[in-house]
Amino acid sequence: MAIDKTAPVAVLGAGAWGLSTALHLLDAGYANITVFDQASEIPSPYSGAYDLNKIVRAEYEDNFYTELALKAINRWKTALWGANFHQVGYVLATSSAAPEKAVKHLQTALLSVKSHPVFANGITPLDTSQDFKEIYWQFDGPLTGFRGYHNRLAGYAHSSNAMADIHRHLIGWGVKFVLGPKEGKVVRIVYRESDNSSERSCIGVQAASGQIHHARRTIACLGAWAARLIPDIGSYVVAKSWSVAHIQLTARESDYLRGIPVLNVRDLGFFFEPDPATHLFKLCPLGAGYINSDRSTGISLPPGESLPVPRDYIPANDEKKLRRLLWETLPWLADRPFVDQKMCWFADTADSEYTVDFVPDTGDSLIVLSGDSGHGFKMMPIVGEWVVKLLRDGVQRLPRWQWRHSQGQKAGKDWGDAVSWRIGNTREIEEVIEEQSRAVKARL
Ligand SMILES: Cc1cc2nc3c(=O)[nH]c(=O)nc-3n(C[C@H](O)[C@H](O)[C@H](O)COP(=O)(O)OP(=O)(O)OC[C@H]3O[C@@H](n4cnc5c(N)ncnc54)[C@H](O)[C@@H]3O)c2cc1C
Repeated sequence: MAIDKTAPVAVLGAGAWGLSTALHLLDAGYANITVFDQASEIPSPYSGAYDLNKIVRAEYEDNFYTELALKAINRWKTALWGANFHQVGYVLATSSAAPEKAVKHLQTALLSVKSHPVFANGITPLDTSQDFKEIYWQFDGPLTGFRGYHNRLAGYAHSSNAMADIHRHLIGWGVKFVLGPKEGKVVRIVYRESDNSSERSCIGVQAASGQIHHARRTIACLGAWAARLIPDIGSYVVAKSWSVAHIQLTARESDYLRGIPVLNVRDLGFFFEPDPATHLFKLCPLGAGYINSDRSTGISLPPGESLPVPRDYIPANDEKKLRRLLWETLPWLADRPFVDQKMCWFADTADSEYTVDFVPDTGDSLIVLSGDSGHGFKMMPIVGEWVVKLLRDGVQRLPRWQWRHSQGQKAGKDWGDAVSWRIGNTREIEEVIEEQSRAVKARL
């Protein structure tokens, strides 16, 4: 049956995937698109991509994602996206303290890029600290036991700026945005029950203001909040967070580090060239992340008022990792205060696979995009294509992106710590905060 592209489509969430969805629907001829977000402006501070920058790399152990990321990188190099993409290169490394899992991950990653026809010519193995210093002449730390490789065909993108640009573009083309904690925050998906089948149709959404917005199709791109509106997905999609911190550099210091490739030390963390506009130097520690599980349902959602996370906070262990990373590479920054520290929430799955599918028993009325697993921003230029295809096909043909039936298990059994690039164990954020405040009190 032909799709009526004039029928109203509601996109829930104006983060990286929601904006991409609206963009591709628009390009495919959908003429009545409304995007909802709980934030009052875009870029949404609630988005996992509300950040200076994100890594854009294409090496995955799984060729499926490598090919998708290569496609996304090619799209990053086009007029609509290019101002926010910086192909400065990417170094994947481990330090002398790296556990075996991190070393193995590095070896597998190197093998896969060395044999890939697109990457092979742009890969430089880095076997000694001197090799690193040839790439990063600014590094004057000891780089103890650092091993890795440099991949020319990667870099980073300005994530908040990219979302702002696509938002502006969509407004210009007539896409409607309903924003804010009352009008834009969706509190309920509205269904019409069917008398003679188990199916129900999604007929729109209700905002916190109470207003109902009708839609022929609703596409939920809610990031870490998906399970709040579609609770069943909480059996396999987990709201998880990683820490982000910054150092405020002077303009001169920022110039000094201009053009450095992204450095990603698997057992410590990663950093980017400083932002030329603000001179902020962004760092993220690496680890298995933090969750916030509800004790009765096991579902993890980002903390609300029930768990006040301290302001300008990251867990002490993450700070330790970042200070060690700085001491090894740029020791003159190792004791600088961190500013604008935050916990940033994304939607994780145990095997790091996305979900792009119709919600079961809702016919073709409700789609969910979720499980970005912390590697979804780079795909922003192409995500919406997956939705257009799903609508055209009427079924998700890729088993890996299908909705997963929970088989009755309670949420929260497997936090995905086995994924090769995650080092350490997932912890409840509440425990970490309590532990830290006990340690502070004990020192007083
Ligand atoms: C610290 C950190 C580092 C990362 N690094 C990288 C990286 O280097 N490379 C990479 O590719 N990816 C990275 N990611 C992952 C990337 O940020 C996500 O994959 C991406 O943001 C997913 O997009 P999304 O649209 O699904 O979710 P989001 O961007 O989080 O957007 C979800 C949106 O839904 C809105 N929303 C939620 N609930 C409601 C509601 N009830 N009503 C209305 N609106 C609602 C929110 O306000 C938000 O704007 C990182 C994530 C984190 C947290």
